[in-house]
Amino acid sequence: MKQLWAPWRMEFITSDKKSGGCVFCDLPKETQDKKNLIIHRATKVFVILNKFPYNLGHMMVVPFEHTHEFNKLSTEQLVEMTSEAQKVVDVLSEVYKPDGFNMGMNLGQAAGAGIKDHLHWHVVPRWNGDTNFMPVLGETKGMPEHLQTCFEKCFEVYRRKK
Ligand SMILES: [Zn+2]
Repeated sequence: MKQLWAPWRMEFITSDKKSGGCVFCDLPKETQDKKNLIIHRATKVFVILNKFPYNLGHMMVVPFEHTHEFNKLSTEQLVEMTSEAQKVVDVLSEVYKPDGFNMGMNLGQAAGAGIKDHLHWHVVPRWNGDTNFMPVLGETKGMPEHLQTCFEKCFEVYRRKK
């Protein structure tokens, strides 16, 4: 896989690691899903737009339970994660018509997990040539606007997939 170069992720590296809390535990406890970019709450997992995306539409499916142990997830959790991930692909396909997807988990710091204590399943849409395109997007400093627009579009379509 060709690596995307996402300069706005520097903000993540320099800003989001200060507090001792866990962002995947803290955000669902709040009641500001729109501000927090939470697209959907299922029973065992939730779907959230990545604030520091590798690409437009980068979402994560996250269990509510604070765990880093993939092999200890219950069948219920696994089934729900998979079906929500499927829905994410479905929604992103409709909204952005990507050419492909990267999907997966980075388990542990050595594997590149940004938040290693609370596992999360990434769904990253890919377009032919996006490794050239995305740095340009990043430099426009447009990511926050893109995020809000992206949230609204995907939120709408997600509702329809019920
Ligand atoms: Zn957590």
